[in-house]
Amino acid sequence: MESYETLLNKAYQQVKVITVSKDRFDIPKVTGQIEGKATVITNFKAIVEYLRRQPEHCAKFLQKQLATNGKIDGDRLIFNTKMNSQKVNEKIQMYADEFVICPTCKKPDTEIESEKGIKSKHCLACGARSPLKQF
Ligand SMILES: [Zn+2]
Repeated sequence: MESYETLLNKAYQQVKVITVSKDRFDIPKVTGQIEGKATVITNFKAIVEYLRRQPEHCAKFLQKQLATNGKIDGDRLIFNTKMNSQKVNEKIQMYADEFVICPTCKKPDTEIESEKGIKSKHCLACGARSPLKQF
């Protein structure tokens, strides 16, 4: 009879830690509301967590793409203008294509690497590296 510890150790050894995400990469759609002249994206934090990117980075990209100013407020992103949510979703998809999805294997399991000030996207699934666009 093996001890509990031995069994536990065996179990640990058999469990491979898999950090690669689910098969489907389905970015959450924005939820938000118009408040006066501003647009509040209420699930911004959930989206960037899903994309595993810095909120500031994503927010900066969206502001550029949507040609508006905005600010991060806790879990939310607030644009200083009225914004169609469909348009925001499109830009988030664009952000994912550019900064998250691997161009080689199309998987989202990438990380941003920075070497000598040059940023690149490193794919954990296939190992491909691709330079990142500056914006
Ligand atoms: Zn890849």
